[in-house]
Amino acid sequence: MADTGPATDSSDYDVIIVGGGPAGLNAALILGRCRRRVLLCDSGKPRNAASRGVHGFLSRDGELPFELRRIAREQMARYPTVVLRDAEICEARRIDGGFEVATAEGRRFRSRKLLLATGVLDELPDIPGFQAFYGRGVYTCPYCDGWENRDRPIAVYGPGERCVGLALEMTIWSRDIILITNGPARLSPEDRKRLARRRIPIIETPVAALEGGDDGLEQVRFVDGTALPCAGLFLNLGEREGSRLIEMAGSELSDKATVETRSYERTEIPGLYVAGDASRRVQFAIVAAAEGAMAAFAINTELLKEDLAKEDRAAEEPPHGRSRETP
Ligand SMILES: Cc1cc2nc3c(=O)[nH]c(=O)nc-3n(C[C@H](O)[C@H](O)[C@H](O)COP(=O)(O)OP(=O)(O)OC[C@H]3O[C@@H](n4cnc5c(N)ncnc54)[C@H](O)[C@@H]3O)c2cc1C
Repeated sequence: MADTGPATDSSDYDVIIVGGGPAGLNAALILGRCRRRVLLCDSGKPRNAASRGVHGFLSRDGELPFELRRIAREQMARYPTVVLRDAEICEARRIDGGFEVATAEGRRFRSRKLLLATGVLDELPDIPGFQAFYGRGVYTCPYCDGWENRDRPIAVYGPGERCVGLALEMTIWSRDIILITNGPARLSPEDRKRLARRRIPIIETPVAALEGGDDGLEQVRFVDGTALPCAGLFLNLGEREGSRLIEMAGSELSDKATVETRSYERTEIPGLYVAGDASRRVQFAIVAAAEGAMAAFAINTELLKEDLAKEDRAAEEPPHGRSRETP
């Protein structure tokens, strides 16, 4: 059920999910089907917002990212125990028996379990055109956008050894690859040999701007005025921004701005789960959705165990209000 307007605060959710991308939405779907009371809060800024299509997602290959979300939210309306809220969560903390989160407007919500599916955001070079052509010629993931750029002129951007791996990987999709290091290349002689063997030239001239039109990126302009035509520019700078909520809730971010989760996306904090791009491993939309489902499975099982144990304890206690007679 979509709930974008004001509502009474409730401290009574089984699960709060922060993040309404594939990870959070799939978790909400599974938990809704388990009749769990779920609050999902989403600030509407997915990592792939600029992308022209989600690729490699079974039955949705090439779907617009926001269309994928729209369908998921529409289908969620079948499950009355799921509340979707368009809201940014600014605080998360552990409390007795669970967690409390707060929105930017100061609304507070409580739950027994907390799932953070907040994703990550890529940091792009501060050079004109990178942001403008992000998802329209500038890409971070060859599995997501390599096929669309197959057999076309490709630029790989980055100064160090990580971009060598990416340049070599891109040979799966094209043999017309140039490495742009935007200044002196920090490459070992061995790396230079590996690139030369695959006929991958290196351009060290600093980049002035990326240029193109409505259809996307067309060329890389260098500070010396020269231009390199290219259909796609791939980069892997590894610079990402994770969510502060993860640390607020007691877990730790790795240097990749993600969390090293345990089985079923558990963290070291009891009751706290992290799924999707915010946890480690392969960062694909379908993997994020699967991680959301795994977390939901584990959360539901944990809630069930807790509830059964509580019921068993209550059944074993003497009836309330009657004291036992002693002989
Ligand atoms: C340009 C680009 C193209 C891509 N193409 C593909 C592709 O073709 N195929 C593919 O499989 N993958 C692709 N990806 C990767 C894919 O986008 C991610 O793997 C996927 O979106 C991860 O899902 P998620 O649910 O973990 O996070 P996201 O989809 O990023 O969703 C996280 C959500 O959490 C919300 N959020 C964050 N913090 C808060 C907060 N404090 N309060 C409330 N809400 C919050 C955000 O607003 C966002 O809506 C691409 C990525 C990029 C950058």
